[in-house]
Amino acid sequence: MTIKLFNTMSRKMEDFQPLVPGKVGFYSCGPTVYHYTHIGNLRSFVLADLLKRMFIENGYDVYNVMNITDVGHLTSDDDDSGEDKMEKGAARENKSVWDVAKFYTDEFLRDSADLNLLPPSARPRATEYINEQIDLVQKLVDLGYTYQIPGDGIYYDTSKFASYGALTGGAMAGNRAGARVEFNDAKRNPTDFALWKFSPTDKKRQMEWDSPWGVGFPGWHIECSAMSMALLGPHFDIHTGGVDLSRIHHANEIAQSEPITGAPWVKYWVHSEFLVDKSGEKMSKSSGEFLTLSVLKNKGYDPMAYRYMLLMGHYQSQLAFSWDGLDAAANGYKNMVRRVADIISDKQPGAIDSEVFDAWHNKILGAVSDNLKTAEALVAVQELLKNSDVNAATKISLIDFIDRLLGLRLVESAKKQLTLENIAVPAEIQALADQRAAAKAARDWAAADALRAQIDAAGWNVIDTKDGAKIIKKG
Ligand code: AMP
Ligand code: ZN
Repeated sequence: MTIKLFNTMSRKMEDFQPLVPGKVGFYSCGPTVYHYTHIGNLRSFVLADLLKRMFIENGYDVYNVMNITDVGHLTSDDDDSGEDKMEKGAARENKSVWDVAKFYTDEFLRDSADLNLLPPSARPRATEYINEQIDLVQKLVDLGYTYQIPGDGIYYDTSKFASYGALTGGAMAGNRAGARVEFNDAKRNPTDFALWKFSPTDKKRQMEWDSPWGVGFPGWHIECSAMSMALLGPHFDIHTGGVDLSRIHHANEIAQSEPITGAPWVKYWVHSEFLVDKSGEKMSKSSGEFLTLSVLKNKGYDPMAYRYMLLMGHYQSQLAFSWDGLDAAANGYKNMVRRVADIISDKQPGAIDSEVFDAWHNKILGAVSDNLKTAEALVAVQELLKNSDVNAATKISLIDFIDRLLGLRLVESAKKQLTLENIAVPAEIQALADQRAAAKAARDWAAADALRAQIDAAGWNVIDTKDGAKIIKKG
């Protein structure tokens, strides 16, 4: 099947052609573990997960890498200035940097599992690849791309790299001046960035290493060049991340890598748009105002409802988060699960019809392979589940494929739902439900609501259907 992806580099939709037939290698910028991963960050990781699933279902042998940034990401991305976010996190929490990194990495891994993100083939941490980063900086020093700012660090001279900033529209010298008020005057060009930072002389850093230039730590950008080359080779197919990374982080990764590997270093650049709030503000970790998956879970939302919400949008469009939107997604997901529950409980499923299977399989996989049109795929899934011309056996095997492709855990949730529906209702709950029915018949809505609240508090749901109220154990 043809796979199409929007390539940020060419600003065009392109047919995907792998570097090695049948194989795909890709790298995704992972989280900086100085704080919780928020649901906006998770959006960019769902993009990586969907890519992986889509390639697997297209028969590719997939090798993908997602790093964990545990050193070097400074508070001002634009200027490589400010504090190391990790050291700042450690000061905030009165813990060692290593403990902070471990804590938030574990939290991130739990969120990833809750959101059903397939583990990447490799998950390197920046601090495990210090030697590779130093080697890369040394190569750039030897090739004449760098200069030293005494007492500060080794910097990359972007004027030496003719196509600097190509990802976001060409030469960018000076483009960023004014974006932030403070600029490091000692830099030769505003776009220059640190490859290696020296440890400050007045305070001891928790994370620092020896290097040919002095004790210090790597700049943020070099880690992704070093780890991707170490794990995927000098050239690979796809690089992903959030849109904010294309202007600086990815521009810098390219500038560091292409003098060594030759151009193009990476064939396709795929960026996901932001999750924003109602006023269009990007959800951001540094602002401290953000939502995590745990908050959603604690409010009773299934992480799959959030995944469904993301899939109902398109990764290249901003998505405004709202509780109403999440409620709508949760309902959409529940309805889908309800239909799947009916299908898997069909006592006469029939035999799989391979022609029908292929037609629906190709339609759904075709939508996702066309630049990840997941919303289109979900509409097709809804049509399939409702379609009375397709027998249950064919639907069940299609649902297995849909679960692999979209990662929505439809079968697992449907089985859970059926188990809950089969739990016998205790007499006291049934009595409350009967009283509620009587109150409703007497149009005593206040009493009916109070009884519903009592049933709810006891761990049961009352669902009014056309055949009367159904009482189901809460999940
Ligand atoms: P960080 O943990 O800050 O290094 O960010 C990890 C990833 O999340 C990067 O690819 C960012 O571009 C992405 N990201 C950050 N904020 C958002 C947001 N509000 N919506 C979508 N992606 C985001
Ligand atoms: Zn990166």
